[in-house]
Amino acid sequence: GMSGEAYRRRHEITVTGDEVPPPLTSFETTGFPSEILKEVLNAGFSAPTPIQAQSWPIALQSRDIVAVAKTGSGKTLGYLIPGFIHLKRSCNDPRLGPTVLVLSPTRELATQIQVEAVKFGKSSRFSCTCLYGGAPKGPQLKELDRGADIVVATPGRLNDILEMRRVSLSQVSYLVLDEADRMLDMGFEPQIRKIVKEVPARRQTLMYTATWPKEVRKIAADLLVNPVQVNIGNVDE
Ligand code: ADP
Ligand code: MG
Repeated sequence: GMSGEAYRRRHEITVTGDEVPPPLTSFETTGFPSEILKEVLNAGFSAPTPIQAQSWPIALQSRDIVAVAKTGSGKTLGYLIPGFIHLKRSCNDPRLGPTVLVLSPTRELATQIQVEAVKFGKSSRFSCTCLYGGAPKGPQLKELDRGADIVVATPGRLNDILEMRRVSLSQVSYLVLDEADRMLDMGFEPQIRKIVKEVPARRQTLMYTATWPKEVRKIAADLLVNPVQVNIGNVDE
């Protein structure tokens, strides 16, 4: 196979951080549990995308990560699969609150992430609840009460539910800020900061973004600890 360096050059991957592990260039080399590999192969995917290949081994080391890659590059599974593996290790009771929390800017994107989480987490039997505005809270609260390993939420609705004290984030140890640039563009920064205050400091934080402007750098500097950064292609600021 190709060396890690050659794969990075070919796919325009640049990394910053200490001792960044080489990319996992095929599914066979990931070492993923068989029930997860099974779903990936069922989906008909032939190889990891570059952002997956490089961010998986970093995330699997439980390190914080900033991943900058354009739309359509496969970022969702980039954070979901390490999140699944994190969940398997954590053994938390989902009725006490989620272990994995994904923040997403819109109802549509949050729903897509949930669909992906259900599809690829099916054999692992994870429960996933999606929280978004523009819909009644009742059914979402009912689902939460049944217990969720994974919560995918828009910041506004999650804050409302936190204020009602209907969910606890005290068990969250894997926090994803997806489409961070869009969330900030939409004015969600105050809500994001309030939510993160409820998440224990002892956690892994992953930020996925299509662009890397100074507002995103600032919040990354505040919320992530010694992150490894992975860029695919030219990074738009
Ligand atoms: P992004 O979040 O970067 O915009 P998505 O995670 O939504 O991208 O992925 C875009 C599409 O690519 C989705 O339909 C997803 O199922 C598909 N996809 C993800 N990983 C792979 C892969 N390794 N091989 C082929 N297709 C993939
Ligand atoms: Mg995405």
